[in-house]
Amino acid sequence: MSGDQFALMMAGIYIHIPYCRQACHYCNFHFSVSHRHREDFLQALLKEIRMQQGFFDGLAAAGDFDGIQTIYLGGGTPSVLGASELMQLFEGLYKHYPLGQVKEVTLEANPDDLDTRKLTALKDTPINRLSIGIQSFHQPDLTFMNRLHSPAQAVECIHNALDAGFKNLNVDLIYGTPGMDDQGWEENLVRVAEMGIRHLSAYALTVEAKTVLDYMIRKGKMPAPGEDQAARQFLLMRRLLGSWAYEHYEVSNFALPGFRSMHNTAYWSGRPYLGLGPSAHSFLPGHRRWNPPNTSQYIDSIQSGQLPWEGERLTELQALNEYVMTSLRTAWGCQLDVVRRGWGESRLADIEQAAEKFLRSGRMVRRDNALILTSEGLFFADGIAADLFLSE
Ligand code: SF4
Repeated sequence: MSGDQFALMMAGIYIHIPYCRQACHYCNFHFSVSHRHREDFLQALLKEIRMQQGFFDGLAAAGDFDGIQTIYLGGGTPSVLGASELMQLFEGLYKHYPLGQVKEVTLEANPDDLDTRKLTALKDTPINRLSIGIQSFHQPDLTFMNRLHSPAQAVECIHNALDAGFKNLNVDLIYGTPGMDDQGWEENLVRVAEMGIRHLSAYALTVEAKTVLDYMIRKGKMPAPGEDQAARQFLLMRRLLGSWAYEHYEVSNFALPGFRSMHNTAYWSGRPYLGLGPSAHSFLPGHRRWNPPNTSQYIDSIQSGQLPWEGERLTELQALNEYVMTSLRTAWGCQLDVVRRGWGESRLADIEQAAEKFLRSGRMVRRDNALILTSEGLFFADGIAADLFLSE
């Protein structure tokens, strides 16, 4: 795998569906549990799909665009949409974008939305990958997180999804929760492997501002998650999954051979993507855009014919720091040739000098002309990357 940002660009499309059935205590994504304006939202989204159809034209005119390869429906919980609503979105996409080369179409889903009828209906859509928010197979964790499903529902929906033919399956898990000891965490990982799940995204519990979790910790009703526990469970996961042939290819992501997420790998490799829906981000080389995280404002703006995005042009240094940040989280690391070609010898020397202390401490190695974080460094990837950031 190369982190080459300068190859011909395969692109992705992300769609944000801002609805959930219930609010999880740790979550600060943009969503609403009221579905009152859902029909207006879907009409606005269809209109944005139309209005943004020229998004990749500049890249195509420059000869840097090699088609759209992935579509990802995230949120929120896009599985709250029925198969017919999803098909409306795909019809809009296929009408306005060149999608002949699409290889991966992912739907984020919660277990409580995936009964056998829904799964059968989803098989008739372009969706060929499911990303299921399981978070834990233990009821006390699910209660703590305020998840809607039970462990039995989680197991059942995974079996049903596999039986329905969704072999390319991701599950999300969360570790470092106050009630979860290492044995409980190991049991979760064993479940994933035993069920033959091809891809795992696992995140340490973090306390985001303005969440119920944040409120409860500040009121003393709940202990704050401990970093030692999370670091220990991260290493346990890396060791166990490695021994079961999963590749740890990004800090939070593990895959059996051939099952890396193409969509997310494209993000981490600096490829362009178009984000549609409230709070969705878009990226073209040197530019970032985002729709504000406000669904009513999004609907009003699109209805009046205005795209609501805000944006910024990245300076050379911002682009370099972003490359360092994303690449250090991956198994292929920060490629020194990419830095040399993109930003020059002097910036390369600055990065190499800043990396020295991590090379000496064993948190980073230099391999195949790349800076790669070791097991000891990976859990602290974002902090290490921030230390490497260059300023004017
Ligand atoms: S974690 Fe997922 S299901 Fe829970 S509130 Fe956040 S977006 Fe919704």
